[in-house]
Amino acid sequence: MKEQQDQVIYLDNNATTRVAPEVLDAMMPYLTDLYGNPSSMHTFGGQVGGALKQARSQVADFIGCDPEEVIFTSCGTESDSTAILSALRAAPERRHIVTTRVEHPAVKNLCENIGSMTGTKYRVTMLKVDEDGMVDMNDYLESLTEDTAVVSIMWANNETGVILPVEEMARLAKERGIPFHTDAVQAAGKIPIDLASLDIDYLSMSGHKLHAPKGVGILYVRRGTPFAPFLAGGHQEHGRRAGTENVASIVGLGRACQLAQEKMVEENSRVKALRDKLEAGLLASIPRALLNGHRLQRLPNTTNISFEYVEGESILLHMNRHRICASSGSACTSGSLEPSHVLRAMGVPFTAAHGSIRFSLSVYNTEQEIDFVLEKMPQIIGQLREMSPFWPGE
Ligand code: PLP
Repeated sequence: MKEQQDQVIYLDNNATTRVAPEVLDAMMPYLTDLYGNPSSMHTFGGQVGGALKQARSQVADFIGCDPEEVIFTSCGTESDSTAILSALRAAPERRHIVTTRVEHPAVKNLCENIGSMTGTKYRVTMLKVDEDGMVDMNDYLESLTEDTAVVSIMWANNETGVILPVEEMARLAKERGIPFHTDAVQAAGKIPIDLASLDIDYLSMSGHKLHAPKGVGILYVRRGTPFAPFLAGGHQEHGRRAGTENVASIVGLGRACQLAQEKMVEENSRVKALRDKLEAGLLASIPRALLNGHRLQRLPNTTNISFEYVEGESILLHMNRHRICASSGSACTSGSLEPSHVLRAMGVPFTAAHGSIRFSLSVYNTEQEIDFVLEKMPQIIGQLREMSPFWPGE
């Protein structure tokens, strides 16, 4: 195991992913020789404009839409804000938003602060979830009213990997004439997306979650859907997103989408097998370890497990000593030790939510790495529990 000690075992791919070598190769010319501005009139700039066009087609092929329906943005957060604020501006007479209690802060914080952001008072329904992290469809149907300006519901949850039935939810919204946005930042590249057959009006994606670089995102806007730009400025992206394009990253994102499209089925089944081995091994070898989230309706790469009576931060610290990277479900970064809003919404007990760890895998993980983690985790949890005054014993 000496070699493994020297390198990172990266199981935090829902936070961000490594840039694929093929993606980096595609980007390099646009970071070196091909530095023209895609909006320039000369041929040198035109060449770069051609690369943007190709990337737009690669993205469109990947998600099943027309290239004209793809807008490049700076990140998933910008795509989420642009979509929701667009829908609100398009229907100023409507004053109601429907979302869930388990959204990423990119949607949650926007909806919670929508009054101060827009200067208009909105009623926001944050749908509750059950212990599996699923929304009740009757609650959802009841929430939709003539006053609803937009529905924004994530496709897959970043903490638990739980997949919500956005296809059906979008259909029900469409029947009532309500625009539907989905945050597909975690879904893209892990489960198939075919917008041609769906009633989704706006969809957000982010490059750095699917082996493209950080700082580039996508907003899909269905043709004919009302749209208002978020930034005022130049005419880039057909006047829908001002600012000189992040060409190299966009080219990388296009290539990442192409790679995902070519290899998703094969690679995700391998990732799922590793995830299942990790999950089964941890649950079998560590007493009072509990799986959070729906067992089946889940991304193939994610498992979120609570180790009762220990602190997530302490677990991460010990994992870090073995160069194992993952995330915890309590938000110490915010200065509080409050457990995650997602686990709280699912009713995970306090003692379990505090000790939750999210393991998120990628195609770059190996079976040897999983074996190493399975060897170390029972020792780590055992040691921490020995020190815990609350641990009641097995
Ligand atoms: N939405 C979800 C579900 C996410 O997981 C993330 C990032 O973690 C975002 C939005 C924000 O994406 P970005 O970091 O590109 O702004």
